[in-house]
Amino acid sequence: MDIKITRAKQLKNKPDESNLGFGHYFTDHMFVMDYTVEQGWHNAQIVPYGPIPMDPASMVLHYAQETFEGLKAYRNHDQILIFRPEMNAKRMIASNERLCMAEVSEELFVEAVEAIVDYEKDWVPSAEGTSLYIRPFCFATEAGVGVHPARAYKFIIILSPVGAYYPEGVNPVKIFVEDEYVRAVVGGTGFAKCGGNYAASIAAQVKAEKMGYTQVLWLDGVHRKYVEEVGTMNAMFVIDDEIVTAPLEGSVLPGVTRDSCIQILKDWGYTISERHLDIDDLMEYAKNGRLKEAFGTGTAAVISPIGELSYKGNVQIINDFKTGELTCKLYDELTGIQWGTKADPYGWVK
Ligand code: PMP
Repeated sequence: MDIKITRAKQLKNKPDESNLGFGHYFTDHMFVMDYTVEQGWHNAQIVPYGPIPMDPASMVLHYAQETFEGLKAYRNHDQILIFRPEMNAKRMIASNERLCMAEVSEELFVEAVEAIVDYEKDWVPSAEGTSLYIRPFCFATEAGVGVHPARAYKFIIILSPVGAYYPEGVNPVKIFVEDEYVRAVVGGTGFAKCGGNYAASIAAQVKAEKMGYTQVLWLDGVHRKYVEEVGTMNAMFVIDDEIVTAPLEGSVLPGVTRDSCIQILKDWGYTISERHLDIDDLMEYAKNGRLKEAFGTGTAAVISPIGELSYKGNVQIINDFKTGELTCKLYDELTGIQWGTKADPYGWVK
């Protein structure tokens, strides 16, 4: 791919690495590429980060043909490591297909991610726990009202140096089991990473926060009883000697962290089952002590322990609201591989 580069006239001051937060700062440049039915993907550019001129009739603004991804680059001294970018590329292909959007091939996606990260490598922070969050996204730019697949798209990558997702650190969080709203149903768009899914989830998040909870645990949208995801993370539950996570049947996002955890846990000899788990059973296991640990998995926070579950007024504390042994071990292993401080037998970091 030929990438035309326009350098920013003035570079920004880098933010204080000890206080980055999540998603507040953006680097000097972004990657932009256009698609039309006639030309395919073309006009790949690295340009100064800034506003995108858009027609008010751009179809994304009306019918939400938009998909995105989230992955990270880590600094190990002079080396910049990107974690499993091909997995995000594959997921974006599946998302775009579901939304009838133009496909960004795996090769184009990975090449574009590597090019912009390399161009902005000075922005990959080095302080402990920090990384460069990579946000590729794709949206319909064709101007016109009337619902049909757009004939023009943009693919953009922006970069944000980030600290820990939860400023409290790897500490257990309180989770509200949502029984009014649902996130997704089989046949819908749950497996796709599209903006619309997140817009629809905000009401539940706001409701949970008002009650003092950090996130919601989503139940399936049909039976309204099987546990699916926790906020924007996949969920795992250690019940006796079995680790249970929801199966990928169309309503759950296939998380890259989920996939990585499953592989590591299997290699450690654990039994990990991708199966339905009834919320009534889960609350019972929490009550009688069979639920040893519970945690969410996702790029932003990596592993986030669950310390409390509240479902229809029944409140259960998990592992005395302490981070479990396996949760800690998994966090250390995965972040070790990501930061390049532990061996990477899987070839995950590029
Ligand atoms: N579920 C949802 C709904 C998410 O938004 C995310 C974040 N992408 C995940 C799970 C975790 O996916 P990953 O491990 O690829 O970040």
